[in-house]
Amino acid sequence: MSNVITINPEIRECIIESGGDDVIKCYQCGRCMAACPWNLIEKLDYPTYRFCQRVKLGAIIESEDKDEIAADTIDVFRCVGCDSCKFECPRGVGLSDVMRAIRRLLVDYDSYPNELKSVVSRIFNSGNPLGEPSDKRANWAAGLDIPTYDESLDYLYFSCCVPAYDSRAQKVAQATARILQKAGVRFGILGEKEFCCGEAVRRVGAEKVFQTAVKSNTDAFRHSKVKQVITTSPHCSLTFTKEYPEYYDGLDAVHATQVFARLIKERKIKPTKEFAKKVVYHDPCTLGRQMEVYDEPRAVLTSIPGVQLVEVPTFNREYSICCGGGALGLWRDWPQDERLANVRAEQLVATGADVIAVACPYCLQMFEEQFKSSGVEIPVMDVAEILYESIS
Ligand code: SF4
Ligand code: SF4
Repeated sequence: MSNVITINPEIRECIIESGGDDVIKCYQCGRCMAACPWNLIEKLDYPTYRFCQRVKLGAIIESEDKDEIAADTIDVFRCVGCDSCKFECPRGVGLSDVMRAIRRLLVDYDSYPNELKSVVSRIFNSGNPLGEPSDKRANWAAGLDIPTYDESLDYLYFSCCVPAYDSRAQKVAQATARILQKAGVRFGILGEKEFCCGEAVRRVGAEKVFQTAVKSNTDAFRHSKVKQVITTSPHCSLTFTKEYPEYYDGLDAVHATQVFARLIKERKIKPTKEFAKKVVYHDPCTLGRQMEVYDEPRAVLTSIPGVQLVEVPTFNREYSICCGGGALGLWRDWPQDERLANVRAEQLVATGADVIAVACPYCLQMFEEQFKSSGVEIPVMDVAEILYESIS
């Protein structure tokens, strides 16, 4: 944040017009800085509120030198959109929205980290951040006898990119589909017509790519008259309910754990096999703070015989800490001592749990990678996988 050269009110206006208008409410109390998980990392100093100060002054990205600008933007692209700051802010300032507005300008000037440029380009060209071909998108469902969605069905199951292609995460989509089938839920999939929901590209400021994602998905939704969606990723549910209504009317989306909890309550599925383990549930930021779904994943887990559910002291539910995967953080290569996954994994392991339960494909990957690189052997399982073990 040291390369600011001049004050430019036009920049302030651009950022405010791009959705950063919350800065006006900020009165520099600094509570967001205490809430931001990046500041739990000893070597970092992430002065969140200063972004508001700089936007108010129009004192951001002001330099003739592209390299200087790039160095200055690292912090802007560090924010993972977890909303811990918004939860603590007495004025409800959405710092992640402010960051997104700043990022839109930077992306327009192509001044953003190369790691992110590659992912954004893969999403634009292939419809997913892994750069896999769309005709392989439904490979996870091979042998499961899931129909292509049409209007005679009740739900579209939207697998999300990571569970569609990543061999580990595919097991989550498969477990989810099998649970829904067992409960008699009438659902179908879009197959190769499913495109990344676009949540992460919007968060990093790549608005044009987000619009491409919206167009592709809403064309497919319109063609098949989709009304209700079940998702494995909370990022997809939130985007469909919060961002898509502007482009597509009458869309409702729920996260898989919400559906599982209802199916158990209505006795359409009954967990019977013992899962005799101490389980700690990690609240994903999007499902928790942003969708306020805290009870349903816990209700699913506690309905399973043998599960002993434990909590991370203090940092649970609204105070859960981000795994670091949001806003394309999954594709960032931070040094080991600068990873949010490291901070959160330590808290989860300290509970003495045998299994870490998650409800988001990003969290699954972030923690598994973290444990692999630090040599810790503790299984990470999606709630769907634990439930499926108990009903199959
Ligand atoms: S907590 Fe809110 S009002 Fe206080 S400095 Fe942070 S953004 Fe500004
Ligand atoms: S959204 Fe999360 S990562 Fe971003 S500034 Fe707020 S607390 Fe920090």
